[in-house]
Amino acid sequence: MAAAPQQDFDTVVMKFGGSSVADADKIKNVAQRMVAMRERGMRVVGTVSAMGKTTDGLIALANEVSATPAGREMDMLLSTGERISCALVAMAINDLGYEAVSLTGSQAGIETDAAHTKAKITNIRADRVVAALDEGKIVLVAGFQGVSPETKDVTTLGRGGSDATAVALAAALGAACEIYSDVAGVYSADPRIVPEARKQPRISYDEMLEMSASGAKVLMLRSVELARNHGVRVHARSTFSDEEGTWIGEEGMEDAIISGVTHNEKEVVFTLTGIPDRPGAAATVFDAVAKHGVNVDTILQNVVHGVAELSFSVPTEDVPAARAAIEDAQAELGEMTVEEDHDLGKVSLIGAGMRSHPGIAAKMFRTLADLDINLRMIATSPIKVSCMVKKSEVPTAVQALHAAFELEREPAEEEAVRG
Ligand code: ASP
Ligand code: MG
Repeated sequence: MAAAPQQDFDTVVMKFGGSSVADADKIKNVAQRMVAMRERGMRVVGTVSAMGKTTDGLIALANEVSATPAGREMDMLLSTGERISCALVAMAINDLGYEAVSLTGSQAGIETDAAHTKAKITNIRADRVVAALDEGKIVLVAGFQGVSPETKDVTTLGRGGSDATAVALAAALGAACEIYSDVAGVYSADPRIVPEARKQPRISYDEMLEMSASGAKVLMLRSVELARNHGVRVHARSTFSDEEGTWIGEEGMEDAIISGVTHNEKEVVFTLTGIPDRPGAAATVFDAVAKHGVNVDTILQNVVHGVAELSFSVPTEDVPAARAAIEDAQAELGEMTVEEDHDLGKVSLIGAGMRSHPGIAAKMFRTLADLDINLRMIATSPIKVSCMVKKSEVPTAVQALHAAFELEREPAEEEAVRG
């Protein structure tokens, strides 16, 4: 049996992703893991995602019924997925001889703003959860959902939102936070593309934020923000083994220059040409984009002969909203030419050590150039370099960068730290 998560905690939030509760046997396995934790004397709060691909199925169903489903009804629909898995896990725990109670997000006191399908947690009134824990129960909280105190309506937190539920509960309860999934932690690259990718023992919040933002699927971006803001150390680990996973916290791997290569194939690049070259033009475009709730990533602007050209990337699911935003911007700035490129993917190199090691970007570009891979857009932060390349070239680019930066090698620091 693995050791209890951390000595100084008496409560632990255990979150299990959709593939960990995909069928009846897996639900029983999750129940067993929660009971094993309870048997070690911990107070256990379980948060589970919807079973398997339930959420995708519900979204598809909604789109069959309506081309423009209302956000409120979408949330009524999607929140059911997590209620199902939660109730089933509670039943399985009861059969193992332990008391369990399942709660919806709203019953668990998870309050959010009123932004349907992408609500933010604003507060947790944890008294009901605490009372049930005090009674010795294992408390199951339906992930990915809450309630807006303002509208009294059920909300959901955006795709992958159960991670945010877990971190917010851990912050509210002063609990340890364990995120279980079908991957054993955070890897130096997606092991499906790079089989020799290595599991990182530690990743700093800042690196994890960049990783989640640039395509790593282990943790939802907002959950990492919550963890950093509240100082919650997150242990990302496997549902199906007891091995140690990755700790996300203040400290990363000190001597590792690069922590990982991530990729994202779910972005679309919009290019607007013929924008007037005057102060406020970009502000007008991005005001409209923000008003429509679009999450913009890379932005590139270039001015040639008095006309500006602006490119930016958005997640695939925000494409309709981005189109609407561009319409609005055109109403103010006049007609422009709008192009959409659906054939690009992004490859990013992330590592806190970049700050003190010049030449990382140059080596990245050289590595890709040697493979004849053309770079369409480049974006950087102090600890990240991202390149947009042809979607079909993404796997090759990831493999080449992983090899060029020798990420399969254990950083030298490790030995010293372990001793
Ligand atoms: N079930 C939701 C989703 O698929 C939330 C989650 O899995 O965390 O996005
Ligand atoms: Mg998930």
